[in-house]
Amino acid sequence: MNHPSLYGFTYTQLKETLVAAGQKPSRAARLWEALYRDRVQSWEAMTSVHEGTAAELEARYALSTLTEHTRQEATDGTVKFLYRLQDGNLIETVLMRHRFGLSVCVTTQVGCNIGCSFCASGLLAKTRDLSAGEITGQIMAVQAYLDSRGAGERVSHIVVMGIGEPFDNYDNVIDFLRIVMDPKGLAIGPRHITVSTSGLAERIEAFADLNLRVNLAVSLHAPNDELRTRIMRINKAIPLDRLMGAMDYFMQRTNQRITIEYILLRDVNDGREHAAQLAELIGARAARMNVNLIPYNPVDEHSQYQRSERDSVLAFYDTLKKQGVSCSVRMEHGTDIDAACGQLRSKQTRAERGRADAALS
Ligand code: SF4
Repeated sequence: MNHPSLYGFTYTQLKETLVAAGQKPSRAARLWEALYRDRVQSWEAMTSVHEGTAAELEARYALSTLTEHTRQEATDGTVKFLYRLQDGNLIETVLMRHRFGLSVCVTTQVGCNIGCSFCASGLLAKTRDLSAGEITGQIMAVQAYLDSRGAGERVSHIVVMGIGEPFDNYDNVIDFLRIVMDPKGLAIGPRHITVSTSGLAERIEAFADLNLRVNLAVSLHAPNDELRTRIMRINKAIPLDRLMGAMDYFMQRTNQRITIEYILLRDVNDGREHAAQLAELIGARAARMNVNLIPYNPVDEHSQYQRSERDSVLAFYDTLKKQGVSCSVRMEHGTDIDAACGQLRSKQTRAERGRADAALS
């Protein structure tokens, strides 16, 4: 029988869970420490926790609910993991090495309903949201991989940019953030965490009200409604005007900057005129926004999109800079593995479907 993961509880919820299981709430601190400081991998190893408490919880909860299915390691140190969930679904998680530390990109949903036209993940419709335990479980599984290498490495940064729209799984993502930020546990600082959204305006405002101090990135990818609706159909429901308003609210409420994500697609949105329009759209917000230009990583499934020429990338960058917009070009990771978001999972899922079809025919 499948049990939910203990990694799904915030510290407060864990205390409540102990009480509901007939245990003393004071035992929560030890348990939290065993989970996140000692990072025990099994119930047997949970020796610092009261025996009765561990036995009681073991009957109802699992530690991790993820099993590693595939691991691809790139020459630059990027590691892409494919995990199998208890219900058989597969999700992707990526570990990236930077000069400033180790970051993990987590998945928040099985598939995605936003349907961005350039995205390998969007090809597989959302089956379900991940639980907070399954999202935290990805961090714990990557940390276990690092621990097993014995080099004392720690996950220091998190980007919520994997498969799924995090704000379409809002409550679980917020619990996840509270869990990984807890100073008595993993203690990953809010400034080391970035949540990326396709632009769910109401949720951006709700997130601003929580004032968690976590970084926000918004996927814009086009400087006008006509083009953005073509690239991201979500723009039809939430046009730029509404989205920019939500971003203004976030910046005012939190006094934080926002990163604008912009994937450069050759001859689609990468002209100087697009850059000029983007600078105009940003306008007076320039002091509080940074544009992250992302050279497109071609995927077989979207042959209509090509990677921008280097000259176009530079011209786009120059145009923004000249208009006073701060911008950068994203470094690529793991180009010798299935690095584009969702590539590994969609490849594996197609292979599994192919095998299932062959078995049925
Ligand atoms: S880019 Fe993100 S929001 Fe858009 S379809 Fe892909 S996973 Fe969903």
